[in-house]
Amino acid sequence: MKYRVLGNTGIKVSRICYGALTIGPLQANMSIKEGAALIRYALECGINFIDTAKIYETYPYIKKALKGWDKPVVIVSKSYDYTREGMKKSLEEARLALDRDCIEIFMLHEQESELTLEGHKDALDYLWEAKAKGLVKAVGISTHTLRAVKAATGRDDVEVIHAIVNYRGLGVLDGTEEEMTQALKVAWEKGNGIYGMKPLGGGNLIKNVPTALEYAFRHPYLHSVAIGCKMKEELDYNIAMLEEQDVPAEVMDKVSTAPRKLHIEDWCIGCGACVKQCPFGLLAIKDGKACLTEDSCMFCGYCGAVCPEFAIKVV
Ligand code: SF4
Ligand code: SF4
Repeated sequence: MKYRVLGNTGIKVSRICYGALTIGPLQANMSIKEGAALIRYALECGINFIDTAKIYETYPYIKKALKGWDKPVVIVSKSYDYTREGMKKSLEEARLALDRDCIEIFMLHEQESELTLEGHKDALDYLWEAKAKGLVKAVGISTHTLRAVKAATGRDDVEVIHAIVNYRGLGVLDGTEEEMTQALKVAWEKGNGIYGMKPLGGGNLIKNVPTALEYAFRHPYLHSVAIGCKMKEELDYNIAMLEEQDVPAEVMDKVSTAPRKLHIEDWCIGCGACVKQCPFGLLAIKDGKACLTEDSCMFCGYCGAVCPEFAIKVV
């Protein structure tokens, strides 16, 4: 496993970050035992960086995976809180649920702009107080927008940026991948720790995984890349791609035949863009939301690529 120091934070992380969202109730809904075993396997492979959030409901998986593990681990969690009290409660909840004195990195979840950052200032200030007490080691934001990356770069109270990065720019809500790269370059030069999310565009780049992973791992302004996976072979595959090694045939076989499903998030606004885009006519709007009408999805990702809300995922 390769490692990098996350900007000026001094925190050393593996170049692959284990994205815990995938195993939890919001996506694959694995049992705690199965999900924890997968995280433990990631740790055994040298991954020391785990990304989660209050809303993902994956703390029990991580706690179980870490039981008896005595090597250093860097956990990131995040919450939508904007008040001091709310953030304090969320950090305490994470410390208790994960059975850890310190959550290495804590973030404001899904920041959109300089305005939302300013609106969360009380919560951010609390995280700095928590840092002074040793309850966290670094403070950051996660975001799907260029505007928030730029706003965070301009402030001294954001150390780590978790931004959406994939070669098509899928899910970047206000710009292109090139613009995101330029914004991250500035953040990198300033010393921010930066790790990417959604290198496979929320599963919509599943047909081009080698290209997508190569892009993410070679990106000049990412210290690490968070990737979700729901089976060991996907992890083996990702590690082989990072290490530029051949992928064993049995791993390739397992990954390419893994069961997939199309997941449409609750925040779909029923605009119908995906319905028009599906070449196989498999989507419709029902009760104001998109849904699959048949079970024969090809997972081509065309629908996800046009969704203005980034509401379609292949999991
Ligand atoms: S992934 Fe492709 S086949 Fe499946 S619903 Fe979307 S556009 Fe249609
Ligand atoms: S394109 Fe996105 S927001 Fe629009 S209907 Fe489809 S899933 Fe919903």
